Amino acid sequence: MENFKRRDFIKKASVVATAGSASLLAGCSSSQQDKTTPRARSEKTFEWKMVTTWPPHFPILGEGADMLAQWIEEMSDGRLKIQVYGGGELIPALEGFESVSQGVVQMCHGVSYYWAGKAQATQFFGAVPFGMNAQQLNAWLYSGGGLELWEELYEPFNLLPMPAGNTGVQMGGWFNKEINSIADFKGLKIRIPGLGGDVIAKAGGSAILSAGAEIYTNLERGVIDATEWIGPYHDHLMGFHKAAKYYYYPGWHEPGATLELITNKAAFNQLPPDLQAIVRAAASRANVWMLSEFEAKNNFYLKKLIDEHNVQLRKFPDDVLNTLRRYAAEVIDELVSKDAMSNKIYASFSEFQKNVNSWANLSEKEYYTGISS
Ligand code: CA
Repeated sequence: MENFKRRDFIKKASVVATAGSASLLAGCSSSQQDKTTPRARSEKTFEWKMVTTWPPHFPILGEGADMLAQWIEEMSDGRLKIQVYGGGELIPALEGFESVSQGVVQMCHGVSYYWAGKAQATQFFGAVPFGMNAQQLNAWLYSGGGLELWEELYEPFNLLPMPAGNTGVQMGGWFNKEINSIADFKGLKIRIPGLGGDVIAKAGGSAILSAGAEIYTNLERGVIDATEWIGPYHDHLMGFHKAAKYYYYPGWHEPGATLELITNKAAFNQLPPDLQAIVRAAASRANVWMLSEFEAKNNFYLKKLIDEHNVQLRKFPDDVLNTLRRYAAEVIDELVSKDAMSNKIYASFSEFQKNVNSWANLSEKEYYTGISS
C-alpha cells in the first residue's frame, strides 16, 4: 500500500516537472499560466446584515453568529463585512426566513424548524424526534446527500442553507409536576418547537412555539406550564430553575438540533468565488465550534443546577418514551403522506438513520456501555 502510494506520488510529481520544463522551453502556454498565476483578486467590498433567532450575543448561539461574521471578515481581509443583529433588534426573531428570502437582509442564523409555516419539510433539517444525533446528522448532511436535499428545498425561496452549529442531545424540559405516565401530558401547555410539538399534541398537550427571549416570562406568568429549551448551560442562564421544579431527560424531541445559516441566494451568487468559499468555510467552523462549546459546558452546569439550585432531575419513564416514539412515527407518517418534499427528504433521512444506527450499535453504543460500567 505504502509502495503504491509512493509510486503514485512520484508519478504525479514527474508529470508536473515535465509539464513545467516543457512550458519553459515552449514559452508559457495559456493552460499552464492558468494553473500557476494567481487570479487577480476582486477588491469589491460587500456590507451585509445577518439577523438571528437568538437574543443578542446570546451565549454560544448568538456568540457563534457574531464569530461567524468575524471569521468571514478576517478571512476576506475586510471585503465581506457582516453586521449581526439579535432577534428583535432589526426584525422580529422568527421573521428571518422571510426577510432573507426577500433580500431585506442577506443572512439569518437560526433553526430550520422555525420555518415549518413556509415549508413543512424544513423540520427535517432542524431536529427530528427520535432521529439522528449531531454526529449522525453531520454525516447525513455532508456525506449522505442531506445537504443537497436541503438546498433543493430552499431553492424556490431564493435561499442557500448551510449547517452552522449543533446543540447535541438536548434536555427533555422543565415541569412543575412529575411525568409518571403519558396521561400527565394531557392539557399541559408546553413551549416546544418542531415535530416534537406535534407529538405533544398527540399526547393531549398543547405545543407553543416561542423565541428564546419570551420563554422565562411565559413560564413564570403561567402562560405555559412547562418548557424545553436546550441543555443545562443555556437553561441555567435562562433561570428556568427559578420557575420550574423538575428537570427531565432525555431530549427525545431534539436528539441533535442542527443550527442553520441561510443566505439570500442572489446575494451569494454576486460574491466572487473566494468569498463564497470563505462563507462556506466559516459556516463549517461555526458548526464545529458550537457543538464543542455545548459538549464542554453542559456537564458543569448540570452539576451546578443540581448542587446549587436543588433542581430535581428526572428521567422520562420508559413507557412514556415508548409511547412518544410511537406518536412521533405517526406524526412523521402523516406529514410524509401529504407533502411530497417531506416524503422525499424523510426517505433519505430514515434510510441513513437505519444504516448509521447499525454501525452506532456496535461502535458508539458498545463503547459507552463499556466505559460507563
Ligand atoms: Ca430545544
